[in-house]
Amino acid sequence: MANNSRKIKEIIDPQYAIEGAGVLLRRSFGPSRENLFDPFLLFDHFAFDKPTEGPPTGFPNHPHRGIETVTYMIEGNVRHRDSLGNSDVIGPGDIQWMTSGRGIMHEEMPKRGPSGIIDGFQLWVNLPAAQKMTDPRYQGVLSENIPTVEDDGVKVKIIAGEYSGVQGPVTEIAAKPLYMDISVSPEKEFSVPIPQGHNAVAYVFEGEGKFGIVDGDGGQNVPAINMVIYEDGDSIFVQTGKDHSVRFMLIAGAQIKEDIVPYGPFVMNTEAEIRQTFLDLQSGTFGQL
Ligand code: FE
Repeated sequence: MANNSRKIKEIIDPQYAIEGAGVLLRRSFGPSRENLFDPFLLFDHFAFDKPTEGPPTGFPNHPHRGIETVTYMIEGNVRHRDSLGNSDVIGPGDIQWMTSGRGIMHEEMPKRGPSGIIDGFQLWVNLPAAQKMTDPRYQGVLSENIPTVEDDGVKVKIIAGEYSGVQGPVTEIAAKPLYMDISVSPEKEFSVPIPQGHNAVAYVFEGEGKFGIVDGDGGQNVPAINMVIYEDGDSIFVQTGKDHSVRFMLIAGAQIKEDIVPYGPFVMNTEAEIRQTFLDLQSGTFGQL
């Protein structure tokens, strides 16, 4: 084990929030000028956990500029349509990594799966100033094309970044992110290197495990549902006890270190750029060259 593995800086208890047309979700953090999780701006967990509640609401047509939105589904689906002409369904285990660049309009409508539950995550990744007005781009990857490494009770689905020599399918992202869905069986260990200086968080959504172990001891038992915020270091180390497995999303990336001005679905670097975004929406040039 690396001797500079990361300690826990803070544990966040995700709070319920309502977004879109009345979507109930658990928000760990949202965009703010403090930019504490640079390059990450937001992490939401859809919370349609009452199968008998009727049809879910969604996110009707809305714009984005200056960010990337990343949707990963555990159960249920999200139907997606956008101004680039993409139209598809993000199903269990699928990922959609959308780079809004200078502008995209899209609609995200959750649908219940056979269990009636919709379980999924949306992550927002910041774009550096030099790429905020880039061409919009869309990387949709089906579950079967996302590599999974399974070894000694540890299962790692690699969306972005590298684990055990295997590279995730989402590439060419400015923040060089690591994004993985990790399951650890009882009485097992997991570790992965994370470059020093990158911000790292773990969203624990099933079971429980010990996080923030350094030099083989210490650490803290973290049950679902909580987000672990890590201090700096060169790796993370997780261990499970004999009664519990744990499942979590591990998210890490290089800090962009630029001032940000968030406003709803837009994240730019200055207030003038936010004003320009509204002017572009009014004049109908939003999303065009
Ligand atoms: Fe959106």
